[in-house]
Amino acid sequence: MKIAITREAIEVGERRVALIPATMARLVQPDWHFLVEAHAGEGSYISDQDYSDAGAAVVADRAELWGHADVILKVAPPSRDEIEQMRPGTALISFLNPLADPELIQALAARQITAFSMELIPRTSRAQSMDALSSQAGIAGYKAVLLAAAALPKFFPMLTTAAGTIRPAKVFVMGAGVAGLQAIATARRLGAIVEAFDIRPAVKEEVQSLGAKFVEIDLEEDTVAEGGYAKEVSEAARAKTQAVLAERIAQSDVVITTAQVPGKRAPILVTAEMVAGMEPGSVIVDLAANQGGNCEVTDPGKDINYHGITIIGPTNLPSSMPVHASQLYAKNVATLLQYLIKDNGLNLDFEDDIVDATCVTHGGEIRNDRVKAALNIEVQVS
Ligand code: NAD
Repeated sequence: MKIAITREAIEVGERRVALIPATMARLVQPDWHFLVEAHAGEGSYISDQDYSDAGAAVVADRAELWGHADVILKVAPPSRDEIEQMRPGTALISFLNPLADPELIQALAARQITAFSMELIPRTSRAQSMDALSSQAGIAGYKAVLLAAAALPKFFPMLTTAAGTIRPAKVFVMGAGVAGLQAIATARRLGAIVEAFDIRPAVKEEVQSLGAKFVEIDLEEDTVAEGGYAKEVSEAARAKTQAVLAERIAQSDVVITTAQVPGKRAPILVTAEMVAGMEPGSVIVDLAANQGGNCEVTDPGKDINYHGITIIGPTNLPSSMPVHASQLYAKNVATLLQYLIKDNGLNLDFEDDIVDATCVTHGGEIRNDRVKAALNIEVQVS
C-alpha cells in the first residue's frame, strides 16, 4: 500500500504538513510504503532527509506521487487540478470544508475518490485522538491572544512599578468552545482579567475553572444542538443577548470571538456600532473570519482600523504555528489511518460511526446528507 504525504500548494499559503517523520516512523509496517513529495515538510522545518531517515521515499515528480498513491494525506482541501491528478479509487484524508464547498465533494465523487473529511470526525471520546478540529482550534485560540497582546497598546498584566501602577487588561472571549477555552487560559497566563460568554450555558464551569468570569444571559430557549454544538437562536434571544454583550464589549480592551455554528455563516456578535463603542486602541481578534466573521466589520485575512479599534481577521492561525500544528494534526491523521487500514487495504465498515461520518465520497457517490442537501441532491430516507 502506497501512502503519500503531499506538499501543500504554495498559493494556498499552508505551512502545515499532514504527517511528520516521528509519527510516520511509528506507522511503518512491511506493506506500508510512504512516499513524500519533495519539500513537503519545508513549511514546518522538516527536511526531505528527515523523512528519508524515517523510512519514506522522497518523490520529486508531483504527477508520479499523486498518480500512484493508494492513500493521499493532506492538510488543505485539494484543488481541482490536484483531484484530476489522482487515480480513481484513491483514498484521500484531508480537511475538505465539505459544507462550505460542496462542489469540491462533488468533484471528488465524480473522480471516484474515497474521501475522508477531517472536519467530520465525530466529537466523541472514542474519536478524540483523531479530532483535528479540536487540535487545531486550540492553536488558534492560543495564537489569537498573542496577536491581541502584540496589537494592544497596553500591558496585559497588572504591574506595580516605581513609576506607578498599571491596571490589567480586560479580555472578553465570545464562544467558549475549544479555541475559546484555550484563549481564556492564555489570556489568564498573561495576567489579564478575563470574561467569557457562550450560548451553551454548560461551559460555565469550564470557564470558571480557568479563572474567568462567565457572563450569564437567561435566554429561555434551548441553545444546544446534537453533538454538543451550538444551535441557531431566535431573533428575540439574539436581541437580548446583543444588549448584554454590547455593554461587556464596551468595557473590554480586547475581544476575542470564536463563535461558530457548523455549516452556517458565523453569527454576528459584534456589530459596527459595538466596535465604535470601544475605547480607541482596543483590539478585536475574530477567529470566525473564515465563516464570515463574528464581527460585522471584519475583513477576512486583514488587520483593519475602525474608529481607532484594530480588528484582526486571521483565516489560518494553525498554519502560523506549523511545528506543533503539524505534530498534532499528524497524530490525528495517523490514528484515523490506523483505524481505516486492515490487512493492507481500506476497511470501510459503514456501520462504524467514525467511518460512516467521516467518509464523504465512495464509489462515485456523495455519502453525506448535508452536502447532498447543499447541492440540491435528493436525500434518500431509509
Ligand atoms: P465551534 O468552533 O463550532 O464553536 C465555538 C463556540 O462558539 C462553541 O462553544 C459554541 O457554543 C459557541 N457559539 C456558537 N454560537 C454562539 C453565539 N451565538 N454566541 C456565543 N457563542 C456561540 O465549537 P468547538 O469548539 O469545535 O466545539 C464545541 C463543543 O463540541 C465543545 O465545547 C464540546 O462540547 C464539543 N466537543 C466535544 C468533543 C469530544 O467529546 N471529543 C471534542 C470537541 C468538542
